[in-house]
Amino acid sequence: MTIARIVVTAAAVNGTLVALASRVWTAMSAAPPRMRVWVVAMLVLDAVVLWGIFERRAPVFGRIVSRATPRTPAIAVTFDDGPTEPYTAQILDVLRAHEARATFFVLGARAEAAPEVVRRAAAEGHEIANHGWDHEALPLHTPSYIRGTIGRTSALVAHLTGVRPRLFRAPFGWRNPWVGAAARREGCETVAWSVGVYDTDRPGADAIARRAIDGLRDGMILLLHDGRSLDPAPDASQVVAALPAILAAARQRGFRLLTLSALLAESE
Ligand SMILES: [Zn+2]
Repeated sequence: MTIARIVVTAAAVNGTLVALASRVWTAMSAAPPRMRVWVVAMLVLDAVVLWGIFERRAPVFGRIVSRATPRTPAIAVTFDDGPTEPYTAQILDVLRAHEARATFFVLGARAEAAPEVVRRAAAEGHEIANHGWDHEALPLHTPSYIRGTIGRTSALVAHLTGVRPRLFRAPFGWRNPWVGAAARREGCETVAWSVGVYDTDRPGADAIARRAIDGLRDGMILLLHDGRSLDPAPDASQVVAALPAILAAARQRGFRLLTLSALLAESE
């Protein structure tokens, strides 16, 4: 399990650093000042690298989009980890009733299993974006692996819809120094999100709606889920139930509901 590997690696790195730091700290009282500067610099560098990997908005490994600045008020609603039937189709019904556009960051493996609803989403004016093939966490992977998971997913989406994805969102929002470049080589900009509502924890439709509505800001990128990693049978019914209230509140505050690419195009 990759997440376990990353956590173990991060813990090992941090444990080693802490042990080293405590020994060095003792030795440092006698060490020359230049040595102390080096030790502190290494610890700061380590902290910056970990921040860059795990903080979705950290620009350590290159440009990352986590909000927009549209000319007139607008937001982007995005759905990760799908498609999952029947929820994705139900979400499309709600979007249609509210004349809203949204963006679906699909997993290649999930899109392969439910191609019809991907075609329908694209045909109804929604954006199909790339979330990798199988939700594998990327920090410990090589550039060629990362290009592979992005490229394979983009090729499938292009095959299904006729349009190649222009946006990539890393699983968990976790990146490494190669993710941005690999995504760019596959024609994708790497994006994160402004507000997440922990909807995969299934806190109840009311809680999901309240958190999303509390977070409404001009240019926001809202993260919701129509799947749950590679889970073949997730329950996204609470998201479906919460969505009408979220869209209605956004409309009431004067926000247009755009695809993320359209929102970003307006922001430049
Ligand atoms: Zn995801």
